[in-house]
Amino acid sequence: MKSFFYHSQKWAVITLVSMGTLLLSPLSNSQDNFTHLPITNEGWLKPFTPLRIINNLYFVGSYELGQFLITTNEGHILINTGPHGSVPLIKTSIETLGLNFNDIKILLTTQAHWDHVGGLAEIKRITGAQMLALEDDAPVLEDGGSSDYKHPQGRDPVFEPVMVDKTLSDGDVIELGDFRLNVHHHPGHTKGASSYSFTTAVANTNYSVLIVNMGTINSGVTVSGMPGYESIQEDFRETFISQLELSPDIYVSAHAGHFYLHEKFKPGDVYDPTRFIDPDGYVEKIKYYQKIYLDQLEEERATQTQ
Ligand SMILES: [Zn+2]
Repeated sequence: MKSFFYHSQKWAVITLVSMGTLLLSPLSNSQDNFTHLPITNEGWLKPFTPLRIINNLYFVGSYELGQFLITTNEGHILINTGPHGSVPLIKTSIETLGLNFNDIKILLTTQAHWDHVGGLAEIKRITGAQMLALEDDAPVLEDGGSSDYKHPQGRDPVFEPVMVDKTLSDGDVIELGDFRLNVHHHPGHTKGASSYSFTTAVANTNYSVLIVNMGTINSGVTVSGMPGYESIQEDFRETFISQLELSPDIYVSAHAGHFYLHEKFKPGDVYDPTRFIDPDGYVEKIKYYQKIYLDQLEEERATQTQ
């Protein structure tokens, strides 16, 4: 077992993290001027086998969190990280695939929540990658979650702020080398929640692929409208409509359970993109979250009219 040393400035401790791959030096000086929310799900930082999903799309996440690498002829696009402390896992996953971590050129996220963006600033610092984000999530990324809509009065940062180099809108196309990635604004979960799609071919058959942000509702959120997010009801409604209009052959998402990663792939399985073909599972999952939204909306309305 090889090891990796990680230096946390805030706590002034050296923590030994057993990683399975030798990393000779600390990745970078972490800037820990934020509140470290407790990691309540041990799967968030539990290593998982990195895998090739289809062609140039790879899973480089943890057991529970979906982080995705897209390779191109001019470098990589990384979508999502985990919370603070997740960068060594991502780096190890990328290197285990035989790819170069320093080739990350573009950083994206599907939602500006701390459990998916806690490593972006660190990776940007190490690789010099450009941070691209939906316009409505950019302020939250840049202030470390202080302006999250659940906290209209503001709060201390809960992840390392990451400066956004370019903002994105629905319908934008991200270009890197010969690769094109379509941007979908799917607000509700966060104001700038987003999904990304592309089409790719295997043996002369085209497959549409969607990295989707599921419209889940966090505890404490009022979907009929709340002070920090007046249009949340309409946003969620439009997001589910938009997501049902998309009909991906293959979908993946920010949490393993959202796309049944552990049912579709077991460590040791060989590369086979067909294992991820699941158009019906996609529709079922979107409708499942849509129903939760509609049920909660109905409940809120019933309470409000009492
Ligand atoms: Zn979230």
